[in-house]
Amino acid sequence: MSPDELAQKITNCNNCSLAKSRRNAVVGEGDINSDILFIGEAPGENEDKLGRPFVGPAGELLTKMLHKNNLDRSLIYITNVVKCRPQFNRDPLPDEVQACAFWLNEQLKLIQPKIIVTLGRHALEKFLPGIGRISQVHGRLFKKGNYYVLPFYHPAACLHQISLLSEFEEDFEKLNDILNSINN
Ligand code: URA
Repeated sequence: MSPDELAQKITNCNNCSLAKSRRNAVVGEGDINSDILFIGEAPGENEDKLGRPFVGPAGELLTKMLHKNNLDRSLIYITNVVKCRPQFNRDPLPDEVQACAFWLNEQLKLIQPKIIVTLGRHALEKFLPGIGRISQVHGRLFKKGNYYVLPFYHPAACLHQISLLSEFEEDFEKLNDILNSINN
C-alpha cells in the first residue's frame, strides 16, 4: 500500500466505535523514510481537532525535547497506537487497540524504522507486552525482530508528574548515542 493510500484508508476507517465520535482520524506525520518512529497512545482533543499528532501541551514538550537533542519533527515519524480520540481522553480499550493494529502494522511496513520510541505504557505494552512497568524499563534499549524498541515516559505524564521530567530528559539525551551505535 502506498503512503497516500494508507492515509486515505485510515482517514475513512470505521473499524471501531471511536469513528463515531472523532472529528479527525490522526494518521501520523513526519518523514516516512525515517529510521526513528515515535509512537504515542491516542489523539487528544487538539489532535482530534487538527488531525495531527502531538499538537497539544504534551506535543509541545515532545517537540522541545527533540529540538534540545538536535532532532526535528520533520526528521522522525510520529504516530499513535490508536488513530482516533477516545472520548474524554480515557485509555484506549483492548478492542480499539486491536482494531487499529492493522494500520500500525502497515505503517511499520512502510517506514521500516530502525528504532521505535514508545511514549507511555500503551505503546510499551503494544511493542513489549509483559516487559514490566514503565518506571523500570524506560530508557533501556530492547531488540525486537528487525528493530529496536526504546521505551520513554509519555510526555503528558511528565507534565502531570513533574518528578518524571528529569528522567524523560535523561532518556532523550541517550537517543543520539543510541542512534549512532545502531548505525555503526
Ligand atoms: N497523546 C498521545 O498519546 N498522542 C497524541 O497524539 C497526543 C497526545
